[in-house]
Amino acid sequence: HAKESGRNTYRFFDEAMNVNALERLHLENGLRHALAQEEFQLFYQPQVDLMSGRIIGVEALLRWFSGVMGGISPARFIPLAEECGLIVPIGEWVLGTACRQAVAWQDAGFPPMPVAVNLSALQFRRSDIVASVAAALAASGLDGRWLELELTESLLMQSGPDVSATLARLKALGVRLSIDDFGTGYSSLAYLKRFPVDRLKVDQSFVRDLTDDPDDATIVRAIIQLGHSLHLEVIAEGTETPEQMAFLLREGCSAAQGYLFSPPLPADAVTGLLEAGSLPATPIRPL
Ligand code: C2E
Ligand code: MG
Ligand code: MG
Ligand code: MG
Repeated sequence: HAKESGRNTYRFFDEAMNVNALERLHLENGLRHALAQEEFQLFYQPQVDLMSGRIIGVEALLRWFSGVMGGISPARFIPLAEECGLIVPIGEWVLGTACRQAVAWQDAGFPPMPVAVNLSALQFRRSDIVASVAAALAASGLDGRWLELELTESLLMQSGPDVSATLARLKALGVRLSIDDFGTGYSSLAYLKRFPVDRLKVDQSFVRDLTDDPDDATIVRAIIQLGHSLHLEVIAEGTETPEQMAFLLREGCSAAQGYLFSPPLPADAVTGLLEAGSLPATPIRPL
């Protein structure tokens, strides 16, 4: 009997695997044509100064609208694009598009602000990321100081001994470097000393339960203090409520992004927000 149920378990497992494999195949095939079919779009999420409500930067977030499969979340297709190496050409498209958009906003007369681009570990290792970034800046005419590259802790830990040299060459282009999802990766903080990082992005998982979970509150407070002690900027991701915003202000973190202010939006919608000057959704202003 046990043998039989064992076999059933295996069969069930196999079928589940086949469904996944089939779905993967569809997604991967779709991804291979997505660039040529112009199915990608960059959305931009405003980053806000909590004191003034002003937009101080934006993060570029990739969207895939597949003709066949409809909208597909980055959480599903980015890992796949990394596994099959497509993240390299896709990442170059993201860099080029974000730089051109940053120039377009400056040309339209808005005060310059950094546009942040997420880099994947594979992109960092496999491609000549320094050449890609330099090419995107040159082709668009964007000054490097208005491009921010978001790196993850695991990227910084995994990429081997030349990671320092690569980061130094990126900094020589004038770009800003930030650490995304800070606090969720490796607990070694030594790299903060070694690497020329400009900003920490407090992971949204800590911000989410900030006002209910004292442990999360402690972690966010600690990250803010750590960042400031090391003369790094700190921004809180995933800020959704006025209570979270009040906590951040009280703890000295004056920058945030999240649904409280704006979701990621198409470029022209962000242009509308820039024209308005500041985001209305700042319900709390310190005296
Ligand atoms: P991330 O870089 O940490 O981006 C933040 C994610 O949180 C985004 O999800 C954003 O839409 C979402 N978000 C923003 N505000 C809130 C909020 O208030 N509450 C909640 N619950 N979520 C919020 P998205 O756009 O689905 O992207 C997911 C991840 O996919 C990103 O996480 C990033 O790691 C990756 N990704 C997105 N675009 C790119 C890209 O162009 N290149 C690479 N390599 N990765 C990308
Ligand atoms: Mg990010
Ligand atoms: Mg993040
Ligand atoms: Mg992430």
